[in-house]
Amino acid sequence: MSRRPIRSVVIAGDGPAGTTLAALLRRQGIRVVLFARGRPTGLVVGESLIPAVTPILRTLGIEDEVRSYGVLKPGATFVPRDGEPVAFRFAATAGRIPGYAYNVPRERFDATLLAACRDSGAHVLPDPARLERDPDAPGRVRLCGASAVAAADLLGGPADLLVDATGRANTIARLLDLPADAGDRHDTALFAHCAGIPIDHAGHVHMDHLRQGWCWRIPVSEDRVSLGIVIRPDALAGFGREAIAQFEGLCAADPRLQQLTARCRRLSPVLRYGNYQWTTRVGVGPGWALVGDAFGFADPIFSSGLLLAMDGAMALARAVRTGTPAAFRRYEVRTRRHHAAWRRLVGTYYDGRIFELIRLGDPAEANWIGRLVNPHVRKHVSRVLTGEATTGRYSRWLFDFMIERGLPGPGPSELRIR
Ligand SMILES: Cc1cc2nc3c(=O)[nH]c(=O)nc-3n(C[C@H](O)[C@H](O)[C@H](O)COP(=O)(O)OP(=O)(O)OC[C@H]3O[C@@H](n4cnc5c(N)ncnc54)[C@H](O)[C@@H]3O)c2cc1C
Repeated sequence: MSRRPIRSVVIAGDGPAGTTLAALLRRQGIRVVLFARGRPTGLVVGESLIPAVTPILRTLGIEDEVRSYGVLKPGATFVPRDGEPVAFRFAATAGRIPGYAYNVPRERFDATLLAACRDSGAHVLPDPARLERDPDAPGRVRLCGASAVAAADLLGGPADLLVDATGRANTIARLLDLPADAGDRHDTALFAHCAGIPIDHAGHVHMDHLRQGWCWRIPVSEDRVSLGIVIRPDALAGFGREAIAQFEGLCAADPRLQQLTARCRRLSPVLRYGNYQWTTRVGVGPGWALVGDAFGFADPIFSSGLLLAMDGAMALARAVRTGTPAAFRRYEVRTRRHHAAWRRLVGTYYDGRIFELIRLGDPAEANWIGRLVNPHVRKHVSRVLTGEATTGRYSRWLFDFMIERGLPGPGPSELRIR
């Protein structure tokens, strides 16, 4: 990254990371061109927000609009295979941030963000951005073909910064073969919108253990629930190759899904996603930066994707305002730290330790020391999960300490995700 002040930015990608960044950069007086390819289908995955997103909605001035079509999400409910469900009410433990979030139909949410980005004065081009490796400069990328011409026309020349917000297309990482860390799991997710799926706690996102894998239930409107099944690819053998056959086969075969889908009517096609634990080790380079899923994506279990995308956009906007190589390095380090924190949390869901920790926090089970300490632990575990303190020093320390030292016994095998 050079020391020249940044006056113009091209953003490839019209998801929450790209549109949030565009709107924020415009407020800083930076000229912005955003390439918006749009989505191949109306249905978009990633519908459950966490409370740390709510202040970002306020900053963008869109909370009222999101509230008008979103479902208020006051908490999250985890349903282990064996044992009692655990329901978190965000308001009970919230500190600096609001004690609620929203569930949103993503195509509408993304349209709200795109409108905010347009209103801010960004130029939105309804085309995919074409990028290539710069043959004359190692480690650089540039727009090519009609994309280069269209952006240069609007900006009066090449942009000072090119941002990859293309999501899991990972355009720049692929072009430059950037090193990346893959997660431990390679699950497949199948999801559809359905009517007739029960919701135990109004507005809560529900995560249920299945015989193999887990499922989410997200109420996205009064009569529509997003049902997603996350499972190892080998567990899909025997259910055919089509997403719809796999989804319906699993709903019929798994005891928990049988219960949940007894009165289910599917309202949408079934979409399938694979391999979503992946983070690049490099997030900025000469004349370019990555943001959102293009930088990395965590497993969806704790609904952290939109926070990572939009918080990352805010951090990148700050780096652009400062404009120094050190500011971009700080952005890169901060983002990697944020991803690492969520990855570690995700690991404790799959190995069951987070349930063990929550169980330990049950006042009914604790001895007197437990009764004294548990509310404190529970508050901080909750703040880590809402995004308020995911990278906060004390909450993280307490969470890690309790996970490593506070849990009795060899490990909760019945709470693990198979
Ligand atoms: C199974 C699953 C479940 C999930 N559940 C949740 C959840 O409940 N809550 C949550 O917060 N997150 C969830 N996520 C994650 C969340 O969906 C993503 O983290 C989030 O959408 C990332 O936003 P983004 O802007 O980085 O990328 P995207 O939302 O993927 O947006 C990228 C955009 O760029 C466009 N594009 C691609 N290439 C180009 C190009 N060359 N030129 C122009 N445009 C281009 C794409 O068409 C797309 O519109 C889930 C993810 C998965 C896989």
